[in-house]
Amino acid sequence: MSITLSFHGGVDGVTGSCHLLSAGGLNILIDCGFFQGSFETERRNRDDFGFDPASIDYLLLTHGHLDHCGRIPLLVKKGFRGKIICTPPTYHIAKIIMLDTAQIQEEDAEHWKKINKRKGIEPPVPLYTTLDALDALRYFGNFAEYGETVRLNNQLSVTFRDAGHILGASFLEIEAGKEKKIVFSGDLGNRNKPIIKDPQYPQKADICIIEGTYSDRRHKDIETSVTELREAILETFARGGNVLIPSFAIERAQDLLFYLSRMYYKNELPNCKVFLDSPMAISVNEIMRRHPECFDEETKMLLQNNHNPLNFPGLHLTKTPDDSRKINYIGSHAIIIAGSGMCTGGRIKHHLKHNIWRKESAIIFVGYQAEGTLGRSIVDGEKTVKFFDESFRVRAKVYTIGGFSAHADRDILLDWLKHCENPEHLFLVHGEERALASFEKEIRKVNLAREIHNPNLNQSYTL
Ligand SMILES: [Zn+2]
Repeated sequence: MSITLSFHGGVDGVTGSCHLLSAGGLNILIDCGFFQGSFETERRNRDDFGFDPASIDYLLLTHGHLDHCGRIPLLVKKGFRGKIICTPPTYHIAKIIMLDTAQIQEEDAEHWKKINKRKGIEPPVPLYTTLDALDALRYFGNFAEYGETVRLNNQLSVTFRDAGHILGASFLEIEAGKEKKIVFSGDLGNRNKPIIKDPQYPQKADICIIEGTYSDRRHKDIETSVTELREAILETFARGGNVLIPSFAIERAQDLLFYLSRMYYKNELPNCKVFLDSPMAISVNEIMRRHPECFDEETKMLLQNNHNPLNFPGLHLTKTPDDSRKINYIGSHAIIIAGSGMCTGGRIKHHLKHNIWRKESAIIFVGYQAEGTLGRSIVDGEKTVKFFDESFRVRAKVYTIGGFSAHADRDILLDWLKHCENPEHLFLVHGEERALASFEKEIRKVNLAREIHNPNLNQSYTL
């Protein structure tokens, strides 16, 4: 069977994942993600896909992160009429992400409309609208549980396996006839993460497409990071301030709640109020609650003992803007988890406005801060930062804690790859050039693949 693989995103950086597999008479897309980052990077979302969306029979979605599902409404808008297959939690998360992105696109277009009008330029068209996102939802509906094999035609089938990255995240094992097995890693998770299970291993692969986000480094031990988090909280409360934690809404926010609840039940958390001030994170909590089958043993045990990590005493879920504003009146002993994770928008900016200039308060960064973001300026030690058209002195104490990653590090990736049993072809994707180059060296050192490829955008391989 002739197998053609082409790469249409997630190859010159970590966003925009989109790979096309053509085999056995089918065109199968794996992920259709959003390019994220600078203005120039996000403009790439408007470029041609590099294939005809109408020719796609199946879209297999590995997980609900924006950089894997964010261009699906656009794909549908441009003619996709195939079937989307994913796990049930991935569907719920992707739905929230696509609708949220549509709203941001609409708001952005509205904002530029006024500016363009004054300049006499045509108003911009949103990349896609809420209606487009709702339209895209009609193509979901074919769900796969972990371990379930879905037949795509008489020659091809796919099995979804637990990738241990975020709730519902999968890697894919595609059987092409009796001859070839193709494995797409999607995003692979860190080991010993709270709530969800560790990544499963593949069982042999002839062709493997593997991510390499953190393939050039080893993560710090998670328990060390939890201790650092606790110490930062205690120090801040001793000074009489609040703790602000900018956080991604999916998985990171829930991981934080898990550790804070553990501190609470071990009597390690001083008397305080914990606020989850993010409507999206609150929705993700709800999705998690509906999928106990994805929980690891530790979380199942906690629930049996009525220690729900996402709903412990002292935790406040603030859905409405009014509830969020009330937090402004609290001067001390509040832990505020809010988005966005890099302080580029969302409610965290309001909390920064009320705390960043206070030397008693603290900002704890637990995630990656991209260049050019407000979060990065604070982490880099800028003395003054500007947002909401105002300048603020940074007097709050800034902490950076690095061990909470949702991605596998180099050792976990190499260990996972070993289970592919020396694939004929290995494709390295979803990583910065430098990380992938170092990953390739390591793979060659221990001989884990016969041929290694570094695909370029829109590059195609017939195997
Ligand atoms: Zn991801």
